[in-house]
Amino acid sequence: MGITLREIVYDIGGGVEGDKEFKAAQTGGPSGGCIPAAYLDTPIDYENLAALGSIVGSGGMIIVDEGTCMVDLAKFYLGFTQDESCGKCSPCRIGTKRMLEILERITKGLGKEGDLDLLVELANSIKASALCGLGQTAPNPILSTLRYFRDEFEAHIKDKTCPAGICKMPRKGLKS
Ligand code: SF4
Repeated sequence: MGITLREIVYDIGGGVEGDKEFKAAQTGGPSGGCIPAAYLDTPIDYENLAALGSIVGSGGMIIVDEGTCMVDLAKFYLGFTQDESCGKCSPCRIGTKRMLEILERITKGLGKEGDLDLLVELANSIKASALCGLGQTAPNPILSTLRYFRDEFEAHIKDKTCPAGICKMPRKGLKS
């Protein structure tokens, strides 16, 4: 607690594998958020991570490099929490499912105008109304990637391209 993300990544962790560019730190486990390079010098504690849209959570920290698609990463974490939903309350059971469907469309090049607003609306209502911590924190990966990497979401939706080259997009000129 109190040391910076940069110290953890570079001094303790030895930097990013293959000397690639640091892109984000995903902290707190599947319900955490993604912190971009601009905040590498932030001291790690509960309040600072919360202010950045993440959590300490399980204490896990995953570092991703420039070759990671943040939309695909958000989909991966939401898929995990959606799978873990016990189904007792509808915001988590149905809401996370609807969010996952939207992310699956976006990563296939089938995203539509309005999808990002809908994701934010769903995320905020699930956070406010889910019964337990799993549902209340499940939207964190979406909200934090949208906050810091919105341009990547827009590239998938508007330009039908995945800047990191991870998502399989329809070939240009073909109707999806
Ligand atoms: S928020 Fe909690 S209680 Fe509600 S469905 Fe999700 S895991 Fe179950």
